[in-house]
Amino acid sequence: MLFDLDDTLFDHHRSARAALAGVHAAFASSASFDEFERHHIHFLEEMHIEVLAGRVALDDARRERFRRVFAALGLAIDERTTDAVACAYRDGYMTARRATEGAAALLAELRPHARVAIVTNNLLDEQQDKLEYCGLASFVDALVASEDVGVSKPDPAIFQIALDRIGASTEHAVMMGDSWQADIAGAHAAGIRAVWFNPQRLPRPLPHYEADEIHSLVPAAGVAARLLRLLNAGPRASNLEPRS
Ligand SMILES: [Mg+2]
Repeated sequence: MLFDLDDTLFDHHRSARAALAGVHAAFASSASFDEFERHHIHFLEEMHIEVLAGRVALDDARRERFRRVFAALGLAIDERTTDAVACAYRDGYMTARRATEGAAALLAELRPHARVAIVTNNLLDEQQDKLEYCGLASFVDALVASEDVGVSKPDPAIFQIALDRIGASTEHAVMMGDSWQADIAGAHAAGIRAVWFNPQRLPRPLPHYEADEIHSLVPAAGVAARLLRLLNAGPRASNLEPRS
């Protein structure tokens, strides 16, 4: 069983929001929180690409991100305040980190029946630390981070690395994640059954891929039973040879 981490088993959105609320109250209360958060999400994604490519260190990326957020809001910020903002965010985020509701119970249900790998576009140490802090590490057999293996979702190669690490084949694997582009398109390209974790019940993006859909990780027993049925269902229909 393959899982994405950020915003699938780990509630990045809520953790970031909690950290951002503290920063907003202390340093940017003249701007609306929604605007502050919207710019933060945008520049976080922009700088994350630079970090994963090894072009910018994590701490520098965080400072640069807040420089851009403040500039976008038309707020003046000096270098010392930038450092303070970046530190406040980091401290807030580290203590606000939470697993998605039901994640630990789901993994506990799956563990006797399936090997579990995380496939994540992020830094290895950052993700290992998250798993431990959130009490998920003991349920995970392999953590495959793009920074460590040099290839990112949706490239099918990263899914194959994860399958190799847990000794599984594509036809007996399922990938669950929240990103249509990284997780669902990637699983499809790798020939793995996909489950879209879609807690906000968004419409399906294009292009269309075959994927089951889950809106919540609770109740864990029910979600685990559904995932185990898919794991035992054999090859995806689209992988089967045409019958003569
Ligand atoms: Mg994700």
